[in-house]
Amino acid sequence: MSQPSHPPLLPHPYLDGTVKHLLIDGQHVPALSGRTFATLNPATGDINAHVAEAGAEDIDRAVAAARKAFEQGPWSRFTPFDRQAVLLKLADLLDRHFDELATLDSLDMGAPISATTARRRRGIGLLRYYAGLATAIHGQTIGNSQPGDIFTYTLKEPVGVVAAINPWNGPLGMAIWKIAPALATGCTVVLKPAEQAPLSPMRFGELCLEAGIPPGVVNIVPGLGAAGAALAAHPGVDKVAFTGSTEVGQHIVRASAGNLKRVSLELGGKSPNIVFADADLDAAVPGAAMAVFANSGQICSAGTRLFVERRIHDEFVERVAQFAKRLRVGNPLDPQTQLGPLVSEEQLSRVVSYMEIGRSEGATAHAGGERLQGAGLERGYFVAPTVFADVRDEMKIAAEEIFGPVISVLPFDTTEEAIERGNNTPYGLGAGVWTRDTNKVQQVTRGLRSGSVWVNCYGPMDPAVPFGGYKMSGYGRESGTEHIEEFLQTKAVWFKGRG
Ligand code: NAD
Repeated sequence: MSQPSHPPLLPHPYLDGTVKHLLIDGQHVPALSGRTFATLNPATGDINAHVAEAGAEDIDRAVAAARKAFEQGPWSRFTPFDRQAVLLKLADLLDRHFDELATLDSLDMGAPISATTARRRRGIGLLRYYAGLATAIHGQTIGNSQPGDIFTYTLKEPVGVVAAINPWNGPLGMAIWKIAPALATGCTVVLKPAEQAPLSPMRFGELCLEAGIPPGVVNIVPGLGAAGAALAAHPGVDKVAFTGSTEVGQHIVRASAGNLKRVSLELGGKSPNIVFADADLDAAVPGAAMAVFANSGQICSAGTRLFVERRIHDEFVERVAQFAKRLRVGNPLDPQTQLGPLVSEEQLSRVVSYMEIGRSEGATAHAGGERLQGAGLERGYFVAPTVFADVRDEMKIAAEEIFGPVISVLPFDTTEEAIERGNNTPYGLGAGVWTRDTNKVQQVTRGLRSGSVWVNCYGPMDPAVPFGGYKMSGYGRESGTEHIEEFLQTKAVWFKGRG
């Protein structure tokens, strides 16, 4: 089939003007409908590439390919050591191609190149970590728990076809985060990347083939929400691993009911970050600022509710505001840039409208509070890193997830009050506490209902450390050994030795 062609738009080997097609059963194929969508550079509004838009009929094809690869293809005969070898090879390939992929992410979703390249260790680490675990998956021996000759043990088996549905805020990292443990267990995958930033996951799919992962094991189907919905409802899918908004997470749970597929959910957050007066403020100021400003605030676990002990409140607000004003916002490809644009025009209007709501509710912007349109930024979706004080817990900016670089500072007086107000949210994803007092550390880490608590730091992640939500931030854990369990099921074997 002839491919519509477009002139090269940007100096990147992957962006050659051709339509980027679906990856199904090891083949690049157009959507059956012939539809495409454009993915934009949020720093300029220019088109990066035209991408095939998967429809329900393409999802059927991809799920069928993944099912065949799981049940009949060479993948079903791979031993754990084979899977380990192929994942290690993929890690080496990723290492070689990392700069290319990191640049694609900067072009596609706007994160500064310094940040996307800094994710190298974690991305490659995830592949190596799960390669290691591939050979450590085993059941249990229970033995003769029954009278007679019955011997019992369990087997750990892959759950089957996994649908991975991802958001745009860490396109490559999120793809690896779901694909690596799924492959380690022997599952096969259909990945639907976010429509705003599908390019690096699509390129990663090609590297999977190059590493020797058989066709059909990793299928990449870019598309809009409807493609995700088709996957979530598909009877041929055994498990959905979803990262995204809480609202879409709820849709996915409902859609999964048809065949009772397993679901894990990494959802939104409105995380508390609590700074006590005895903290090392020289560390807490940049720590609290970057807990929100990193990735331009587009991080699910961002510490957006900054609780500051009242006696240092005014000084702390001023210092965080000064820090915000010094951040270099600009072209994501410039290595000096610390903050890039927001991912899309839609996200820009959403964040700017929250800034306006904040002011109208009585908050005072000590830094930022508006769109940035200075030299070189006019066509992009840039906003100023923003610090709001005079905020009350019930204001919208303090209660709702903004997903932009907006901090709400809230004064508090006692540890108990900070914990109670920190927990006063439907979410429970991340949390931070800054203090030199180990009793307060104990009290706060135990008191907060969230999946991660960072003490005297905010936001580090590691392939070996589980990450996930309490309450409406979701269920299931990613990273660590628990993540492997998400893709396994347990079979009990009752073995009667003599008839
Ligand atoms: P989103 O929920 O709008 O979209 C996420 C993905 O779901 C996209 O691929 C989208 O196409 C797809 N989708 C949309 N409608 C669907 C439907 N009805 N059925 C199935 N799939 C559907 O989220 P977003 O705006 O892309 O990302 C931002 C959200 O993601 C924020 O709420 C953020 O907190 C959350 N997030 C959470 C984590 C975490 O680990 N907990 C990490 C990153 C982002």
